[in-house]
Amino acid sequence: MKLNRLLSSSEPTLSFEVFPPKTSDTYASVADAALRVADLRPHFMSVTCGAGGTTDRFTNDIASHIIRDKGVTAIEHITCVSARRESLQAHLDAVQEAGVENVLALRGDLPEGYDPDAHHDFRHASELITYIRANSELCIGGACYPEGHPESPDVKTDIDYIYEKQQAGCEFVTTQMFFDNNILYKYLYKLRSRGVTIPVVAGIMPVTNAAQLKRIRKLSGSHLPMKFLSMVDRFGNDPAAMRQAGVIYATEQIVDLLANGVTHIHVYSMNKPDVARQIRDSLNVILPTEAAAL
Ligand code: FAD
Repeated sequence: MKLNRLLSSSEPTLSFEVFPPKTSDTYASVADAALRVADLRPHFMSVTCGAGGTTDRFTNDIASHIIRDKGVTAIEHITCVSARRESLQAHLDAVQEAGVENVLALRGDLPEGYDPDAHHDFRHASELITYIRANSELCIGGACYPEGHPESPDVKTDIDYIYEKQQAGCEFVTTQMFFDNNILYKYLYKLRSRGVTIPVVAGIMPVTNAAQLKRIRKLSGSHLPMKFLSMVDRFGNDPAAMRQAGVIYATEQIVDLLANGVTHIHVYSMNKPDVARQIRDSLNVILPTEAAAL
């Protein structure tokens, strides 16, 4: 199913993210985790890709398994940093042949020493979106950053580029993780004021261990509210307690989002079916997935 149909409805949706293996040795265990997440019957699942297209084949294989083996809609992430038109077209053909109808079109993080002025076919996600729109039937999503992309001078400039993505054919955007819902509410207001009308899917990261927090601090620069820091301070050294507290924190964020009219929730539960299950089960009345009706 194309996600533009699902996301333009006012019915709430719950989706989960998984990542592909880096090498074939771990393919079976990663595929198993992804299919266990699919068994939870989310509205859709997204499959990330490694920077510079390093995992494209595995991303495509995992997405195809989710669709064919479990009947769950999947979206593949595609990055364009370092990509050439010919290889991108071959990749888009493979995506569609695998039965995938949706892609999240991203620039990707710049590899160390990357020269943006060297000859690359795509510089920004909006150029990738323009290309995909013109050369495929895929439904296209993009990324957005409630706290601004780390390379942007300010949120306003960043939002101008989200508008550019929409004009290029982007049909929805998924947010970077955030831990303070007020940041998202203010961001949504600014997006809508700028004329960005496409659906926004709120990305929620359940932080279930202290190592994850270190990575988040390094990569996203997300604001961490006092309530969140107190939780990590109190439970960070106790893996079972941190896991439980992290799932509850994420679930409370989701309940607040739904109460305030945000309808599409994407959980960065990564390859942790148990975490995805706990969140799904805690929300089974207020955000039912197909499984709740079975
Ligand atoms: P862009 O939209 O190109 O933006 C990058 C920067 O350039 C921003 O600062 C923006 O303001 C600026 N910009 C945009 N357009 C222009 C323009 N026309 N002129 C000048 N400046 C411009 N990375 C992966 O490697 N694999 C993944 O699977 C993956 N999944 C992700 C999923 C989500 C939901 C999110 C939020 C991020 C994901 N990322 C992933 C990370 C993402 O690739 C990086 O954050 C990357 O640095 C930016 O990608 P983008 O698509 O937002 O780029």
